[in-house]
Amino acid sequence: MTKLYDLHCHSTASDGSLSPTDLVSRAAEKGVTTLALTDHDTTAGLVEAQNSANNLGLTLINGIEISAQWEKLGIHIVGLNIAPEHEALQKIIAELHIMRTERAEKISQKLAKKGILNALESVQKVASNEMITRVHFANFLVSQAHVATISEAFDRYLGDGKVAYVSTIWTPLENSVKAIRVAGGVAVLAHPLRYKLTATRMKKLLGEFKNTGGQGMEVVTGRYNPDEMRVLANYATQFELAGSVGSDFHSPANQWLELGRLAPLPEKVKPVWELW
Ligand code: AMP
Ligand code: MN
Ligand code: MN
Ligand code: MN
Repeated sequence: MTKLYDLHCHSTASDGSLSPTDLVSRAAEKGVTTLALTDHDTTAGLVEAQNSANNLGLTLINGIEISAQWEKLGIHIVGLNIAPEHEALQKIIAELHIMRTERAEKISQKLAKKGILNALESVQKVASNEMITRVHFANFLVSQAHVATISEAFDRYLGDGKVAYVSTIWTPLENSVKAIRVAGGVAVLAHPLRYKLTATRMKKLLGEFKNTGGQGMEVVTGRYNPDEMRVLANYATQFELAGSVGSDFHSPANQWLELGRLAPLPEKVKPVWELW
């Protein structure tokens, strides 16, 4: 049987809308044979996802998507094939949990100044003990009819520089990569084109990422664009980084983006799964 990899997606343990069980079932339905669950800054969904994968005969790769700081920029590092309980990783997760909780309090205060009350209480109920993300606030703003859609919530309130935006300094890139490596994982730069870097800055980032122990970068993403894929494949070969493939699926509500709906990795790129 040919294998279909999807190495980037989210569950209710962070800002996805499906439970780990439902996410894995949907992946199996879509023909995915190897799935990595990569929730933002948490490994809390992995045990449930593994149970579901065992029942369905799908291979689950333990993953995470760490929010990291590089210079003035927040970037995302996907850790694949990690040992979730490793102390070094859990230490960073605990730090990120504190950062996210403090940020959520500040976002809530900013919304309160605009007359939108009790945001924190509401998102905490939904997120229970898991990571609170801006998507939780976006869902709250939609549910209270302050905005019609999630994207309007980002445009009016939560996006960069908007009224309820709170800037955060995440864990340094180097610490994030090292924690993933120490926990036995492969560190992969997520969606490199989403940071809107010039070619010069992109090369600086890829060089530093590689120097700190980064081994891979996403080359095929859910928003398929052949020109972008060529650019990414060239960077991967130039910097001798393995290529990863991931949809970044969050919710069935986004019809443009589906689990496993991914182009094949260009042949000149070394597949990241050969590293484990
Ligand atoms: P956070 O990590 O808490 O800053 O939240 C970032 C998450 O918000 C991302 O992982 C996306 O899932 C989501 N997101 C960011 N921008 C948008 C947008 N314009 N529309 C919908 N979702 C977004
Ligand atoms: Mn997200
Ligand atoms: Mn991301
Ligand atoms: Mn993601």
